Amino acid sequence: MSLIVQKFGGSSVSDAEGIKRVARRIVDTQAAGHEVVVVVSAMGDSTDELLDLAAQVGTESSSGREMDMLLSAGERISMALLAMAINGVGASAQSFTGSQAGMITDAIHGKARIIAVSPHRIRTAIEKGDVAIVAGFQGMSRDSNDITTLGRGGSDTTAVALAAALGADVCEIYTDVDGVYTADPRVVASAQKIDTISSQEMLEMAASGAKILHLRCVEYARRFGVPVHVRSSYSLNEGTWVLPGPDDQITIDEGEPLEQPIISGVAHDRSEAKVTVVGVPDIPGKAAEIFGIVAGANTNIDMIVQNISTHGSGRTDISFTLPMIDGSAALAALASAQERVGFESVDYDERIGKLSLIGAGMRSNPGVSYRFFQALSDAGVNVDMISTSEIRISVVTEAEALDTAVRAVHSAFELDGDAPAVVHAGTGR
Ligand code: ADP
Ligand code: ASP
Ligand code: MG
Repeated sequence: MSLIVQKFGGSSVSDAEGIKRVARRIVDTQAAGHEVVVVVSAMGDSTDELLDLAAQVGTESSSGREMDMLLSAGERISMALLAMAINGVGASAQSFTGSQAGMITDAIHGKARIIAVSPHRIRTAIEKGDVAIVAGFQGMSRDSNDITTLGRGGSDTTAVALAAALGADVCEIYTDVDGVYTADPRVVASAQKIDTISSQEMLEMAASGAKILHLRCVEYARRFGVPVHVRSSYSLNEGTWVLPGPDDQITIDEGEPLEQPIISGVAHDRSEAKVTVVGVPDIPGKAAEIFGIVAGANTNIDMIVQNISTHGSGRTDISFTLPMIDGSAALAALASAQERVGFESVDYDERIGKLSLIGAGMRSNPGVSYRFFQALSDAGVNVDMISTSEIRISVVTEAEALDTAVRAVHSAFELDGDAPAVVHAGTGR
């Protein structure tokens, strides 16, 4: 008998029919002789709908605490309905909120980090023969005793954290596509499913905006050695295995490592904005001051570009990208420090897109950058910012050019498959 953690995303439980379909799948897994712990997301686009409602009543003066109380309600609805559906088909299930399941986090609302997992009640439930259903994306801060959420897409992280704490054999992430593809199948219809991917490449894909897996879920799986299987809740097809260890290699029967593909995929991200601090005094320490201010607003920044100062002006412009949801906090923090730092103004642009090419083989293959920039040039796409890691090249483009750029780069690296990728459900919101 093995212990399996199964996570079902919002599109898999978007209505009563979906919930009943998922319930049957869970019961089948249990009937095959496994212990099953389930993590469930809010139904369909209900998290976005709750956010829309909050915006309508005015969130300006509201605290992160209330927002987390609101958003965590989405997962409470689906967990209870799923438990009822399982009980309805003759099996036995109990649902648990994140805090009942022992998900302890820090106190940073909206992007809390898990600091401990003590799933006593989950263990007791499965020992009794029940299916334990846990609300994804939420926990409780031990300091404030308040409910927290882990950030958009955070149910994946709940699932892997529970799998690690329970010593599960596998964490299955069920979603609306058949696995991890060489690009988002909603943008590139010819994207191909990847059978196995190293956690290092998956980390870069997730960090570059491929929302198929939450970034911290991949970090967690790598750190605790949890095998993750991303697959569709609409088919029985084998999905994508994310190999947990940093040193894992794909081997064939004789034990010889297979040749790694040079490129594993193309990721894109529409959730970032660009900030340009204009007219910064070109003297030592000013960049540190600016990034200190932004960090003080609890914001992670991504790409950074400093323009050379115009001859004789003694001033320079510093641009950086950050998650759009952190934009207003960062702008407010910068505005309050303008006089002290001595910059002239701040520009803010949300109409940007980020494209990243990822592949462990790019380390040892010259010419990847040339081919990448040639593809963008042939497609008439203008590049605004560039950053690289050992296994990734990223650029910022205008938002409108992003889809064209993704398709051009995907084709240039011969990633296109013959059959169109299947998207089973969901709105892509
Ligand atoms: P869930 O609600 O199940 O958590 P998400 O919407 O968070 O689902 O993630 C699944 C979506 O991720 C897919 O529908 C697809 O549009 C998107 N996606 C982005 N990049 C990729 C990729 N490389 N491979 C597969 N799906 C991707
Ligand atoms: N419901 C949350 C969201 O939409 C968490 C999740 O789906 O993982 O972001
Ligand atoms: Mg998700």
